Amino acid sequence: MPSCTTVEELGKYVYVLRLGHRPHRDQRVTTHVALVARAFGALGVYIAEVRDENVRESILKVVDRWGGKYFSVVDGVDPIDIVKQFKAENSCVVHLTMYGIPVDNIIKDVIEKCKKILVIVGAEKVERIYYELADYNIAIGNQPHSEVSALAIFLDRLWQGREMNICFSDAKYYIVPSARCKVVKHVGRS
Ligand code: SAM
Repeated sequence: MPSCTTVEELGKYVYVLRLGHRPHRDQRVTTHVALVARAFGALGVYIAEVRDENVRESILKVVDRWGGKYFSVVDGVDPIDIVKQFKAENSCVVHLTMYGIPVDNIIKDVIEKCKKILVIVGAEKVERIYYELADYNIAIGNQPHSEVSALAIFLDRLWQGREMNICFSDAKYYIVPSARCKVVKHVGRS
């Protein structure tokens, strides 16, 4: 496998809490939240209140092929309990919202102060309590867009681009970048 950055080398423990998942409407978006989390260096995703086997299965399939067996998908959690657990252990709670402080004004503080982080993303309206419990309410631009893009950009700012070169030691397959074609290698085979 070419030289790359492991999740350990990123040096922080990041988990994502997905609020407001509606199983029939949000399966694709919630799956994408989890895929971004895994691909960009987080260690797991919590899905608040509801269980969704389809989301879990989609992520496990990706993990099986492309690696990251440590990556956890825990659904049906009580979101306030999760937030309180993180706060009790002095981890940072970051809520991504268009109403928050612009990411570039605050990310230095997060990088310096936070070793373990819970990143909260919503679906529709997020209850006021999350704004109050969060240590940081952070905006990725002050326009409405998507939890998937907000998470991706937040993680990119957090790692300062290092996650682009991430690799997974337990991957069965990896990609050799190519300007024209798909080059996929099976680990252990030439
Ligand atoms: N009114 C919502 C808000 O507070 O950001 C927008 C709802 S949006 C469909 C769903 C989620 O995407 C939000 O809960 C938030 O986590 C994320 N999001 C959307 N736009 C964002 C932005 N500009 N900055 C940070 N997060 C954003």
